[in-house]
Amino acid sequence: MAVKLFNTLSRKKETFKPLRPGRVGFYACGPTVYWYAHLGNMRAYLFEDILRRTLEYNGYKVRHVMNFTDVGHLTSDQDTGEDKIEKSAKQEGKTAKEITNFYTAAFKKDAALLNIKKPTIYAKATDHIKEQIELVKLLEKKGFTYKIYDGIYFDTSRLKDYGKLARLDAEGLKAGARVEQVHGKKHPTDFALWKLTPAGVKRQQEWDSPWGRGFPGWHLECSAMSQKYLGEQFDIHAGGVDHINIHHTNEIAQSEGAYGKNPARYWIHGEFLLIDGDKISKSAGDDITVEKIANRFSPLVFRYLVLTAHYRSQMNLTWESMEASQTALNNLYQKMRDFLDETSGQQWWLKRLVKNLGLAGKQTQATFKKYTKYEKQFLEAINDDLDTPKALGLVWLMVADQELASDAKKQLLLKFDRVLGLGLDKIKSANPPSLVKKLASRREELRQQKQWLNADALRAQIEQEGWLVEDTPYGPKLVEKKIKL
Ligand code: AMP
Ligand code: ZN
Repeated sequence: MAVKLFNTLSRKKETFKPLRPGRVGFYACGPTVYWYAHLGNMRAYLFEDILRRTLEYNGYKVRHVMNFTDVGHLTSDQDTGEDKIEKSAKQEGKTAKEITNFYTAAFKKDAALLNIKKPTIYAKATDHIKEQIELVKLLEKKGFTYKIYDGIYFDTSRLKDYGKLARLDAEGLKAGARVEQVHGKKHPTDFALWKLTPAGVKRQQEWDSPWGRGFPGWHLECSAMSQKYLGEQFDIHAGGVDHINIHHTNEIAQSEGAYGKNPARYWIHGEFLLIDGDKISKSAGDDITVEKIANRFSPLVFRYLVLTAHYRSQMNLTWESMEASQTALNNLYQKMRDFLDETSGQQWWLKRLVKNLGLAGKQTQATFKKYTKYEKQFLEAINDDLDTPKALGLVWLMVADQELASDAKKQLLLKFDRVLGLGLDKIKSANPPSLVKKLASRREELRQQKQWLNADALRAQIEQEGWLVEDTPYGPKLVEKKIKL
């Protein structure tokens, strides 16, 4: 079954066709490591993780490259303002390297807590200065650059369709012209490839180049590193919607100038996360991070919440929505435990269940049909431009389906979780300690003998051990008193 993805280039859902059969070259713009990534940033990485997992679920081998911007990203997202890293280093009284190392490690930790798969390759901008200088040299040779007092700029008028990704029309360009401009730039959309360190200034991070001492422009690193690790053209480039107008538009300009090709065939963008209606941005300082929610919620609760909205819709984060996600995830974990218990572990309880229900045989065929149906519907949902809300809906329909055996439910949950990444594979059968099992059997004997008081005393003892006895129509069942979430 084909994967369909909404391509920002065409503004259409397209059937994904890789350049090389069975393989996907995938580049995702990574964080600027001057501060913690906020939950909005993490929504972008979660969407990219779902995209990658969906491709893998479909059997593709994905080469996933992500950069760390550790130099060159200015506070304006344009060519004015301070370098975010140098500014943060000054504020915290640390070196630029200390800052970038610290926030790179913090990002990796947060991504792991959200079950985001590690990219195949992490690439730092400062480790690729040589490649970036080579790219500017190539653009210079092809006549796409000019020099002004503060750097080397890309002449966007040299490309006939500059701005096609953003559909920058006359209006868009006028809007661009309103932002603070660097004096001497030929066109408002021209952008810096190499910024020169002004005379008398010493930056913490600066390098020699054929044009003078300085540092690379923000867009340059992604073009240089994607070309190095994925080639002049690769399959998918992803990021947040805020990258469409400037960053990705300029990456396309650089690659088209240098290699005559749009670097990626599919440009996929994730919408913003809002907090109670406000846009969160880490430069505003009022950010909410994985660490900050961790004392109230498991980070995977946020992952669950993100899955409840389509990646191309804005989503609002409220404490109520987090609490609702917590309840839902908790219930899903409990279901998973039940299915595990019913198919292994608590043999004493399972035997009774099988006996009481007269299971097996008849059910097998119906289950098999249903299993295939859910498998197909789930694949259809995620392959339809990553429709995770629909996929989650199916999960709940499936777990509640009376005609599906627990074993099939368990298998399907584990399979679907390869895409959802909710940690269902970590759930253990609620296998009670042998003392608790012994107490439960003894209590059951006492109940059979109608010694209710003694049986109740044992129930209290079982509770003290952290377990509850639920009397079900099929016999008693032990459940853990509290699920840690
Ligand atoms: P940055 O570290 O600012 O370069 O941003 C890292 C990623 O997060 C980029 O892909 C941005 O598009 C994305 N992003 C930034 N803010 C938000 C937000 N509020 N919601 C979703 N994605 C965001
Ligand atoms: Zn980028």
